[in-house]
Amino acid sequence: MEYTDAPSTQTADTMLCPNCGQRLPKEAQACDRCDWKRENPAETAEGTASDAMAALLSIVPGLGHVYKGYRGIGLLFAIGTLVVLGFSGLAAIASAGFGLGLAVFYWVGVAMHAYAIKDRVVPSEKDEGEQY
Ligand SMILES: [Zn+2]
Repeated sequence: MEYTDAPSTQTADTMLCPNCGQRLPKEAQACDRCDWKRENPAETAEGTASDAMAALLSIVPGLGHVYKGYRGIGLLFAIGTLVVLGFSGLAAIASAGFGLGLAVFYWVGVAMHAYAIKDRVVPSEKDEGEQY
């Protein structure tokens, strides 16, 4: 093993292979010197099928969240959509259509959130009584 004279071998964007100590990019999925592989490759920041599905379902804002197990948040977004649509409708009347941009902005935001939020669909449905 070689010794570098750097006091800290760990920098922000690299990691050391837990198997052989080879320096690797932080998001490395496998070591290029030994046969170490990162476990659970499906749990990276990259989107999964359910992420895409949730974003797709967000055509109806809130539905994507319900799909991922966030019923309370989904309901809030659905209600929020009605509020935003009402508000942006009024704003559109007052500003010759510009207000509709607000609704689109909200809509895209909800879809992106549904895509990014962690899928928490689990067999247990114990915490149904969410308080709001
Ligand atoms: Zn290695």
